[in-house]
Amino acid sequence: MTLILNRRGFLAGGSAMLALHPFSVRAQGGQAHLRIMETTDIHVHVYPYDYYADKEIDTVGLARTASLIEDIRAEATNSVLLDNGDFLQGNPMGDYIAYERGMPEGAMHPVIEAMNTLGFDASTLGNHEFNYGLEFLMNSVSGAAFPIVSANVVTKMGATPAEDETLVPPYVILDREVTDGAGKTHAIRIGVIGFVPPQIMNWDRKHLEGKVEARDIVRAAQAHVPRIREEGADIVIALSHSGIGAVEHEEGMENAAIPLAGVEGIDVILTGHSHLVFPGPDYEGREGVDVAAGTINGKPGVMAGFWGSHMGLIDLMLERDGDSWRVGEAQVEARPIYERGEDRAITALVESEEAVLESVAQEHQETLDYVRRAVGKTDAPLHSYFALVADDPSVQIVSNAQTWYIEQMLAGTEHEGLPILSAAAPFKAGGRGGPEYYTDVRPATWRSRT
Ligand code: MN
Ligand code: MG
Repeated sequence: MTLILNRRGFLAGGSAMLALHPFSVRAQGGQAHLRIMETTDIHVHVYPYDYYADKEIDTVGLARTASLIEDIRAEATNSVLLDNGDFLQGNPMGDYIAYERGMPEGAMHPVIEAMNTLGFDASTLGNHEFNYGLEFLMNSVSGAAFPIVSANVVTKMGATPAEDETLVPPYVILDREVTDGAGKTHAIRIGVIGFVPPQIMNWDRKHLEGKVEARDIVRAAQAHVPRIREEGADIVIALSHSGIGAVEHEEGMENAAIPLAGVEGIDVILTGHSHLVFPGPDYEGREGVDVAAGTINGKPGVMAGFWGSHMGLIDLMLERDGDSWRVGEAQVEARPIYERGEDRAITALVESEEAVLESVAQEHQETLDYVRRAVGKTDAPLHSYFALVADDPSVQIVSNAQTWYIEQMLAGTEHEGLPILSAAAPFKAGGRGGPEYYTDVRPATWRSRT
């Protein structure tokens, strides 16, 4: 594509006028604007669709985030697109693939198909990638047209983390070209390394025990990052599927982004896992981060919400330094796909990207067929609107089902007839899932009247 730039820094062509990023406008010879794009915690949300409520929504979907990509790429001379993990589990499409269709060798997972369509440059493993077991995971990621890295999921522990054998490569060096402000192209080597909370060993013990182990995030970084530099990376990007937590490093910490950003040799940190937005009010006033500057422990950092709600952007002005590059100025932004008005009404800011929808249209339809199957009838409304403050029917029915299930298992054994306690928690009750994130099943009699 040829871009025609007028004197005010606007790109002419197409229906919209796009503002070229100031770094691309200002870059001189020996300076290059590199834009890093992040998605995180997609959780199989490709379509802007709530499969539980069986309706379209404007707050989720990689197809929506994707439609930002074209403009975002057009605003910058050079860009890379990275994903930060938790792509494989988290909505009924994920469950449909895992529990109904299956993921035999050679099959394609729809979220990987969608990511391939968008041309991701690399991704890392989130904790939820392990929810369906290692075989499912490895068969799914084998379809990826991009490298997937993780430095702290270990198949064979070494004497030091540097000698570990890892489940997937700990890092990758992307050989790319950048165009500088004088229009000259240069080679650039971009190191990308990934991390996951070591708590996967508790959360998915039944899938992982005896097969893999997890290292501390910061220890793994300290071992591998110097090697990425030795192998000639000009810049190093950490894909931290680990949120922004305590400032001081503690062995085995879940949310290690701040001490991780402090590891020498890491230039930029992409975070996630917490399903929050950085920079933004979620992290206002927190120690170790600067919301105005968009820095985490002094390094440019971003967290792009969840389910495709935002595209994370880190703009770097790279400065030629001998025959390498170093990071000069940086700007950070989390760009949303929708806005919520004063009246709480939601307005979509982008349309869906057709190519992404088309890439998984079949699996979307199969998921709709899956969720539309009747599993039972209720005469009473089942909703979770007050689940956090009062007895709640949506939680009670789960608890009743658990009790019933265990009773069947104990029948005919020595434990038959023992009292059974059942605990259930209101997971789907607003909170970080947002004000739409509730269970609301109307009685069949109500439904038939409308
Ligand atoms: Mn997640
Ligand atoms: Mg996570």
